[in-house]
Amino acid sequence: MKLIHRLSIILCTFFIAFGSYAQTQTKQPDWTKLQEETMKYFQAILRINSSVATGSEAPVVDYLKSVLDREGIATKVFFKDPKHPNLVARIKGSGKKKPLLIMAHTDVVSVDSTKWIHPPFSAKREGGYVYGRGAVDDKDNVVAALMVMIQLKRLKIALDRDVIFLAESGEESNSSVGIEYMVKEHWSEIEAEFCFAEGGVISRKEGKVLFAGIATTEKVPRSVKLVARGTAGHGSVPLQDNAVVHLSQAIAKIAAWQTPMRLNETTRTFFTRMAAIVPPVDAARYLALVNGNGAEKAQEYFAAREPRVYSTLRTSISPNMIKGGYLVNIIPSEAEATLDIRALPDEDMKILLAEMKRVINDSQIEIVILDSNLRPAARPSKLETEAFLMLESTLNKMYNTVSLPMMLTGATDMAFVREKGVECYGIGPLTDAEDGPKGFGAHSDQERILEESINKFVQFNWEVIFNLAKAN
Ligand SMILES: [Zn+2]
Repeated sequence: MKLIHRLSIILCTFFIAFGSYAQTQTKQPDWTKLQEETMKYFQAILRINSSVATGSEAPVVDYLKSVLDREGIATKVFFKDPKHPNLVARIKGSGKKKPLLIMAHTDVVSVDSTKWIHPPFSAKREGGYVYGRGAVDDKDNVVAALMVMIQLKRLKIALDRDVIFLAESGEESNSSVGIEYMVKEHWSEIEAEFCFAEGGVISRKEGKVLFAGIATTEKVPRSVKLVARGTAGHGSVPLQDNAVVHLSQAIAKIAAWQTPMRLNETTRTFFTRMAAIVPPVDAARYLALVNGNGAEKAQEYFAAREPRVYSTLRTSISPNMIKGGYLVNIIPSEAEATLDIRALPDEDMKILLAEMKRVINDSQIEIVILDSNLRPAARPSKLETEAFLMLESTLNKMYNTVSLPMMLTGATDMAFVREKGVECYGIGPLTDAEDGPKGFGAHSDQERILEESINKFVQFNWEVIFNLAKAN
């Protein structure tokens, strides 16, 4: 009895395994054939000027909707402002598992078109690249999500969970019309267990893939203003309480202040895994951060040589705007500076600002909290989830590389979704590390992506979504 039972389990397992193997074999997209179609959509989307300066993402939404309608995929459009619509497309699964959400923003940053080799909205193909504003931020993710939805539908893939595509507006300038609005007003339309969005990278240097970065958390923008007040007077009679002088001293103290270093699961794992793939001298520095031995020296190195790494070690403060005075012979009664604070996700701002007050130690300076502080500080996404492990194994399989969880120094729409308890992961296509410094990266005066890179990224998205959502 026992033996027969065991045998039947083995047989069952075999048939189940074989069954799903046969299914995945028969129902995979023909990626070579789909390259032309991918490029057609990608170029069409790039050619729509949805920059912050034009003020509307509606034409991109109209285009995406027309493509999805043609495929028979259900869509809904939601907006707080009709110029900034958000598109939701959903392919239904059995509901056995909670949905997957793929997000991509349809707006792009503005351009100075005189600086571009090829017009920024021409989607020109040249030398294996596609040029255009949004090529790597974020129309690459838009087209990848679109292609995944189309293939799931065409191949009639049986799903254990819904797959939702959200093309959101306003990411670059005003999330209150985009993700913030969707989360607050239409949460049930995008509620999911996992979400994928921009923010990751597959970094290649000198033709060799170095690592894949998966964004699992991000720093939180928290701006404040320092206001210095003093006595106004004639410039010919200098005063000790001069507001400009007191403000300058406060800024200098803040610049010299090193907020405490604090690692989290993401940064600790990032440095540990990074140490395993770089030359010993660099590895020692990363490990010093993790182990604490020689961390001071390592921090000095990163502060001077790799400011991005240094920023991920702590809550950072950058004084970026300064205002004071209006005539040379008048001592102004007020002067102010704006500080761009990027807080660690678990930062207690009350404590930080109290500490800042102590560091400045000047009764003439007031610290004013600005309203940018409404952005949520979400906890980092977990590293042991089904989705993260799937990203890791797929990256390893397709790009033969190690995955590093990353904390972004900048802010993305994922923060709003993470705050709702969704595990969010930022992904991105392969880019050459040399391309950014040459001026071809996101937000540059040029933006481009390798054609082979966009095609492979579409396939990568498919592998991840298909394997996480398919019926088992
Ligand atoms: Zn972006």
